[in-house]
Formats: sequence, structure tokens, C-alpha cells
Amino acid sequence: MIQSSLKSAILLIGAPGAGKGTQGETVGHLPGFFHVSSGDIFRALDKDSALSKKIASYSSAGNLVPDETTMEIVSKQLNAWAENGKYDPSKEILILDGIPRTVNQANLIQEFVDIQNVIHLSCPDQESLVARMKKRALDKGRSDDADESVIRNRFSVYEAETKPILEHFGEEITTTINAQQHPIQVLHAITHALTSKGLYKDL
Ligand code: ADP
Repeated sequence: MIQSSLKSAILLIGAPGAGKGTQGETVGHLPGFFHVSSGDIFRALDKDSALSKKIASYSSAGNLVPDETTMEIVSKQLNAWAENGKYDPSKEILILDGIPRTVNQANLIQEFVDIQNVIHLSCPDQESLVARMKKRALDKGRSDDADESVIRNRFSVYEAETKPILEHFGEEITTTINAQQHPIQVLHAITHALTSKGLYKDL
């Protein structure tokens, strides 16, 4: 049973296409968990706003949105959800999907969030991820997935800027899961990790 004045969270980390969104959404539907996807938060902004256009200038090329802008938008959204009752920090564990994505963001988010475990969705076979993303571009109309050079850039950005987060948190609190398994097997591995470590709150 978790007790902390900080917001409790589990971080899902993995290359683009590794299944963070699918798994985050699924676990986030369970009572006691709340899924937060920075990509979804960005995509929900008014497309005509200056902020949304600024974000698109980075994401359409597969680059990261600057840390300060990212943190401001996500923390504002979290506070709004806590205020309107959609998210209850005392009862729900955040499933962070896509945030933090740099070591700097990790340091910033740790000021108000306690990351209790890092679930690393590992997929060494980059080509299968590229194929998944191309399919996602068709299924979900994600324009940033449609262009192969943008996809390749997103992998380089992941390797250079996001993967160092694994070292930042360390092996002690990291669970590595083979993301090339069937999604239901990945889900099983995630729920097994969370239950065996007691990473859920009493309802
Ligand atoms: P995926 O699930 O494919 O990894 P996301 O939906 O999480 O992609 O993110 C889409 C885009 O939004 C990213 O390519 C990036 O440009 C931007 N983005 C999302 N989260 C962050 C973040 N934490 N920091 C910087 N940029 C971000």
C-alpha cells in the first residue's frame, strides 16, 4: 500500500511504436490507475492555437517539444484533471506514457511526482516497430507516423534523449518487458510486475 504526498506514478518507457499507448490506456482503465499520455494531451489542444502550431512544428519532424513547454502543458492538464475530479491523486496512480522523455523532464517531474517503477517496453527489432507505426498512421490518422524519414528520426531521438532516462532511474526500480510479445502477454507482464511489487493503492 503506497503512501506519499507526491503524486504516485508508474512510467512506461519504450521506443515509438513499442505499445506504450495501448498498454497505458488499458491499465489506465482499471480502477486506481490514471493514464496520462503527453502525445494525447498535445493532440487534444485546439489545432488553430499558436501553442498547437508550435508543438506541430516539432512533432511533425519527429523532434521533441522543448522541455519547458512540455512540462507546463502537462502539469497544467494534470492540475485541471485533479481540480475537475477526473483524476484523484489520493486514490489513483498515474500511468505516465511519453512523459518524461528526457532526463531533464525526469528531474522536473520528480518535483511533484514519485515514479515508483519504470516499465521498459523493450523491442530491439526496430523494423517491426516501423511496420507497426506505418499501420498506426493508417488506423489512427497520425501524420507523424506516415513519413518513414520522420519515423527514423523519432528512433534516433529516442536513443539519444529518452533512453538515458533508464540509467537515471536505475535497474532497481526498472522492469524490462519484451514488447515483441502479443499485447495480452505484455499486459500480463505489466500487471504481474505491479501486483508482485504491491504497486497499486487500496480502493
Ligand atoms: P509515440 O507514442 O509514438 O511515442 P507520442 O504520441 O507520445 O508518440 O508523441 C507524439 C509527439 O509529441 C512526439 O514525437 C513529440 O514530438 C511530442 N511529445 C510527446 N511527449 C513529449 C515529451 N514528453 N517531450 C517532448 N515532446 C513530446
